Amino acid sequence: MARGLNSRLQGLGTTIFAEMSALATRLGAINLGQGFPDTDGPAEVLEGAVAAIRGGHNQYPPGPGIPELRAAVTEHRRHWYDLDYDPDSEILVTAGATEAIAAALLALVEPGDEVIALEPYYDSYVACIAMAQGVRVPVTLRPPDFALDVDALRRAVTPRSRLILLNSPHNPTGAVLSRSELEAVAQVAREHDLLVVTDEVYEHLTYDAAEHVPIASLPGMRERTVSISSAGKTFSVTGWKIGWVMGTPELVTAVRTAKQFLTYVSGGPFQHAIATALRLPDSYFAALRTDLQKKRDLLAEGLAGLGFEVYPPSGTYFITVDIRSVGADDGMAFCRELPHQCGVVAIPHIVFYDDEEAGRPLVRFTFCKRDEVLTEAIGRLRTAPWARR
Ligand code: PMP
Ligand code: GLN
Repeated sequence: MARGLNSRLQGLGTTIFAEMSALATRLGAINLGQGFPDTDGPAEVLEGAVAAIRGGHNQYPPGPGIPELRAAVTEHRRHWYDLDYDPDSEILVTAGATEAIAAALLALVEPGDEVIALEPYYDSYVACIAMAQGVRVPVTLRPPDFALDVDALRRAVTPRSRLILLNSPHNPTGAVLSRSELEAVAQVAREHDLLVVTDEVYEHLTYDAAEHVPIASLPGMRERTVSISSAGKTFSVTGWKIGWVMGTPELVTAVRTAKQFLTYVSGGPFQHAIATALRLPDSYFAALRTDLQKKRDLLAEGLAGLGFEVYPPSGTYFITVDIRSVGADDGMAFCRELPHQCGVVAIPHIVFYDDEEAGRPLVRFTFCKRDEVLTEAIGRLRTAPWARR
């Protein structure tokens, strides 16, 4: 029991990302744990932030975000998905998707309301549902393809259900919900009058034939959906923490009511740079996907060569493996041992599950690193005692 910590937050401890990144730094290990690229985003975007600082954009930006960024979010959403949002009343800029998720849950959930979420859950969901005094109800995605079990989703609905918290492309599994899976979610939401909060931060990171479909684009969903995205992944600037919320004026006003007392505003100069970034030509987004898809293949092949059962992802920058294929079974112990064994850090899935059996043997590696780093990591993993040589 952590002394002084309230009962809502008991057991949440330190995030796995902080723990594993600290371990990587301490041991000089290659960090394939926390998902952040080791190269910078596009030069014109970086220069945009420098220019904004030099240009004097260094005081509080307006509460909803600077008008240029809200206009760029609107244009981006229309260009890629043919969805229209009014920049003045239907867009809110946040301190990353993290704040958007927190503000949405704090704004929309009453104590005791049930929040249906895909398990494994991104770690901040558990904490934010707890802070909102909601009750999380998992719908578990299972290997090999981590597809949505629509019957399980239907069984998860009760009279206390308030909202479905969706994440696609999905961290940590890399699954991208198909149009028919999303239609099933939409049908459940409409039938039971549920809200949907959808985390789409990996919207541009989809591979092969996978296509990101925003659930707000399905019939009857725009008016019940709070859509969330952010700049970190799309423009390789995870430290900038510029995110945004899109929805009806009522829903966005609700989220803003909570958001204004969390940070009020943030990232003034970076907002200017992201307005530029969202207007980059399609070729930028295509090159990002091609580049990451090659990295996915490089790491997936390397991991398979070591003897792992690999579940190649259709999106995000994470690969999941089942460690039972190399004679282990406890992902947490495996990940704590790995940097000592061979100087590589990975993330155990188990921290993202209520169903510990489901998460126990799964481990996540990120591939958003330079090719030579991925190759070096595979070489190091090959020296581990369990590796097939
Ligand atoms: N949602 C998911 C699924 C994520 O993986 C992340 C972090 N990478 C976030 C939200 C947080 O995004 P941000 O850094 O914009 O706060
Ligand atoms: N989203 C990143 C990941 O899943 C980490 C973000 C964080 O450290 N909170 O690796």
